[in-house]
Amino acid sequence: MERDLFVAWFEEATRLVRADRDRLTRLDAAIGDADHGTNLDRGLTEVLKELAGSPPESGAQVLTTAGTTLIRRVGGASGPLYGSLFRQMGKALETPVTLAGFAGAFEEGVVAVERLGKAVLGDKTMVDALAPASRALALAVRDGAEVSVALGQAARAAQEGSKATIPLQARKGRASYLGERSVGHEDPGAASAALFMAALASVAG
Ligand code: ADP
Ligand code: MG
Repeated sequence: MERDLFVAWFEEATRLVRADRDRLTRLDAAIGDADHGTNLDRGLTEVLKELAGSPPESGAQVLTTAGTTLIRRVGGASGPLYGSLFRQMGKALETPVTLAGFAGAFEEGVVAVERLGKAVLGDKTMVDALAPASRALALAVRDGAEVSVALGQAARAAQEGSKATIPLQARKGRASYLGERSVGHEDPGAASAALFMAALASVAG
């Protein structure tokens, strides 16, 4: 059951990324090299193939398989970064999965992304969506919120964090080469991170 929920997360994330592939690529065209939508769509398609080919036994294994596949199959910065997120989550997630356990594993995953990319909040990267989502989730757990409420708040925080990258100047990744010209555009990785959180809220909420 728990495993199926994590598979459903990646199925829904793939659906949302595919539906928004051109928007993600347009965002990356503005401040990068116009490949983020196609990169992620290809990587996630491989993740679903991998999950179908050798079905994992636990939610943690789903995350590890997804992370490893994204590292292998996604060219560009976002592959290793998302790969680290999910691999670290897979390592940290304990069975049976609880909301608090999931929130803790997610926080560890976000720290792994921050460590690998050396990005902090406000650098105009996926961290600007992931870190607020993690904080919202932790607060919801502290307040004893229902799963659906907690994940809804995390998804909203990610979406707001992504939109908040628009006025920022990029300090990490390809977009940072543009200096001040990166201002005025939403970060593509933050936008895709918001889709991942929306997918989770949709399947588990
Ligand atoms: P590339 O930039 O190599 O073409 P993608 O286009 O797939 O890779 O992904 C770009 C996204 O990756 C950016 O929008 C940003 O969110 C994220 N990113 C890039 N560098 C970093 C970093 N050092 N730390 C965190 N996220 C980063
Ligand atoms: Mg790119």
